[in-house]
Amino acid sequence: GESAASVDDTFRGPTGTLEVPQRFLMGPGPGNANPRILAAQTLPLLGHMHPPFLAIMDEIQAGLRYLFQTSSNYTLLASGTGHAGMEMAVANLLEPGDTVLVGVNGIWGERVADMAERFGAKVVALHTEAGTALSLADLTAAVELHRPALLFLTQGESSTGVRQSLAGVGELCRRNGALLLVDAVASLGGVPLFADAWQIDAVYSGSQKCLSAPPGAAPLMLNERAMAKVRGRSSKVRSYYFDLLLVGDYWGWYGSRSYHHTGMVSMWYAVREALAIVSEEGLEAGWARHDAAHRQLWEGLIQLGLEPFVAEERDRLATVNTIKVPAGVDWAALCKHAMDVYAVEVSGGLGPTAGKVWRVGLMGYNAKPANVELVLAAFRSGLALQGFTGG
Ligand code: PMP
Repeated sequence: GESAASVDDTFRGPTGTLEVPQRFLMGPGPGNANPRILAAQTLPLLGHMHPPFLAIMDEIQAGLRYLFQTSSNYTLLASGTGHAGMEMAVANLLEPGDTVLVGVNGIWGERVADMAERFGAKVVALHTEAGTALSLADLTAAVELHRPALLFLTQGESSTGVRQSLAGVGELCRRNGALLLVDAVASLGGVPLFADAWQIDAVYSGSQKCLSAPPGAAPLMLNERAMAKVRGRSSKVRSYYFDLLLVGDYWGWYGSRSYHHTGMVSMWYAVREALAIVSEEGLEAGWARHDAAHRQLWEGLIQLGLEPFVAEERDRLATVNTIKVPAGVDWAALCKHAMDVYAVEVSGGLGPTAGKVWRVGLMGYNAKPANVELVLAAFRSGLALQGFTGG
C-alpha cells in the first residue's frame, strides 16, 4: 500500500521571481519577440472551446491565409515548434511505401529524409553542395526519373544561408503528379512566398523567426490537392497528435469543431497578434524591410573585409546570413565577445557549415537598422581584437 512519507526538501524547486538577461537575438532564431506580442500572452486565459477563443482561431486562419497568400481553408497552427509543422506535414502527406524526393542543401532536408523514413516512405535524396541552391534542371530530371509522391524543398536553408528558388517547381510537380511541400520556417514573412500562385501544396513555418513571437506554434497550410491525399489515405496517420483529420476538425476544417487536444491558448494569442502586425505592415513592406536590413548588413561586412558563404547573390537568404570565417580568426571567440560586450547573439555554423561560418539572423522585429549597426559594431571590435584587418 501507500506508506507514509515526508517531503524531501533537498529536492525543492526554484523560488523567487524569475529574472532573465536582455539580449539581442541576432542568430538564426529565435529572434527577439515584439513586445506587443509578449503583452498579448499576458491576457487572461480562455477555454479552448469558448466562442471568443474559437473566434481568435478564425482570425489566426485569416492571418495565415494572408501570410501564405492562399485562399485555402486548410490553415492551422501545429502545436509545437517548426519541427511540429514538419512532422505533421510528413506524417499526413506520406503513406508507407510512397517515394519522397528530398532536396538536401543543408540539415533541414536531412531531417525531413530521416522523418519520412520513420513514417515508412522510400526516400530519394537530391543533394547539392552547401551554399548552393538546387537547380530547376536537376529537380526536373530527378522528379521525372523517380516519380515521387512528394517533393520537399527548404525555401530558407538556415544552416547554409541559401534561399531556394521555387520558380517553376510547382508546375513541375503538377505535371508529374507529385505534391510540393516547402519548409518556410526561416523565411516566411521575410521573403516572398505565394502558396497559390507558385502551386505549393503544403508549407509550414515557425513562430519564433520572422513572426517575432516566442517558439511554440507552427503555421501550416495545405491546399485541396494535399487534402485529397490526406482524405484518400489507405492507412491511418501514424501519429495521433498530428493527424490532420483530427486536428483539422478542431480548427473547423470539416464544418464542425470537436476537441482533439487543448489549444495552446496564450501561444495562439501571440500568433494572432503577430499576424495582425504582419497585416498592418503589409507583406511587401515587410519583405522590403528585410531586404534593406540584409543589404545594410552586407555593405558593412564587406567594408570589414568579410565575405559571403553563398557565392551567388541571388541565392542569398536575407533572413539568415552566412559569413565566411577568415583564416586565422577564432569564430567562437568573436561570438563570445559579441555576447559579453554587446549582449548580441551571433551564431556559428550548423551541419555542413559548422566551424566555417557565422550566422546572423535579420528576422521580423529585429530586421531594422539599429540592430544591424549593433551587429556590425560587434564584428568590428571582435575582429580588431583578433588582429584581423581585412582582405
Ligand atoms: N526548418 C528551418 C529552415 C529552420 O530554420 C528551423 C529552425 N532553426 C526548423 C526547420 C526547425 O524549427 P524548430 O527549431 O522551431 O523546431
